[in-house]
Amino acid sequence: MSTPAIANAPAQEGFGPPAGGEPFLLTPGPLTTALSVKQAMLRDWGSWDGDFRAMTASLRSQLLELACAPAGEYECVPIQGSGTFAVEAMLGTFLDRKSKTLVLANGAYGKRIADILHYLERDHVTIDKGDYMPPRGSEVTAAIAADPAITHVAIVHCETSSGILNPLQELADAVKASGRKLLVDTMSAFGAVPLDVTRLDCEAMVSSANKCIEGVPGFGFVIGKRSALAASKGNAHSLSLDLFAQWDYMEKSGQWRFTPPTHAVAAFLRALELHKAEGGVAGRGARYRANRDALVSGMRSLGFETLLADSWLSPIIVTFFNPADPAFSFTEFYDRLKSRGFIIYPGKLTAVDSFRLGCIGRMDAAIMRQVVEAAAAALADMGVASAAPPQSALAERAKLAA
Ligand SMILES: *Cc1c(COP(=O)(O)O)cnc(C)c1O
Repeated sequence: MSTPAIANAPAQEGFGPPAGGEPFLLTPGPLTTALSVKQAMLRDWGSWDGDFRAMTASLRSQLLELACAPAGEYECVPIQGSGTFAVEAMLGTFLDRKSKTLVLANGAYGKRIADILHYLERDHVTIDKGDYMPPRGSEVTAAIAADPAITHVAIVHCETSSGILNPLQELADAVKASGRKLLVDTMSAFGAVPLDVTRLDCEAMVSSANKCIEGVPGFGFVIGKRSALAASKGNAHSLSLDLFAQWDYMEKSGQWRFTPPTHAVAAFLRALELHKAEGGVAGRGARYRANRDALVSGMRSLGFETLLADSWLSPIIVTFFNPADPAFSFTEFYDRLKSRGFIIYPGKLTAVDSFRLGCIGRMDAAIMRQVVEAAAAALADMGVASAAPPQSALAERAKLAA
């Protein structure tokens, strides 16, 4: 639906610099949003009013469509808070107290799932592949064979800490072949990387407003099997993060159970219009891949190296090694890029120093080429002769090829 506040906004809009001299956010959410997404927030909504209830209904049905969810089989339940709140709500609601979850971790977000399960006192085991090595289907099969008490497997789709796109379908096939249930954190990939909940046969998946749909922060959403949701009553550890109760109330009243992030919902509906106008998941994914390709080839031409080989690079965010040159300092690089209009992201690797550049948000390949030009100028200003990484970084990377 088109909300009254933004009814006259054009279907498409360009990729110029954000208004008011704000920098581009090369970060994986919050990210740079379209002007009309920001403008959609210039109005107040009553949470009980019919207009806002219609907005909530539209948001839920559009998200089910994006997940290729057949009507009646899956339900979409939005929940207030950042993405982690929605992950916690999904785990707390879909896992009963007798469950045991196999967590596949290869970065901070996989580890966070295990941390949440620890807080929730839900039994779990973790396969920890380190900073970026991908979990494989054969490991899932072996782990379940060795521990038949496992009931669920939790997987991160794009592990945003390294930028790796994990082999989701391979892992989902292994979970299904072992007769277990699948929970997916597709926070940073949903909307740009194709995802079909029926093909995955996942119990539930979770994402949030401020990633590839290009909305503003304020809520997340879980898309889960209707049968599993209906059976989840009483599982939740938390009143406010009980997705069964949120769903039940939403079905009965059309309203969120507690104060909804009304402005973020209005912005999200505009963001969904832009997503559709761009060609949906295919169009959004194509732009992000073009962003990544412009960024990676440009940065490589300056001597930078990526952590991951091309086949594992997501179109979401890319990790680059810091240059070995002693004249390079990350904080100085950061400040110099910021003064040129670009906010970058520190790395999250434990073994070697790195930084990350996001490909998502209201930006196109022309802007990515400006990022590369700004990086070249920053290196020249710092007196960095070569952006080549240290040998230790390349040795780390060789592990992935082995
Ligand atoms: C962003 C993100 C989250 C949620 O993070 P918040 O900071 O709570 O929004 C969870 N998982 C992944 C993979 C993410 O990229």
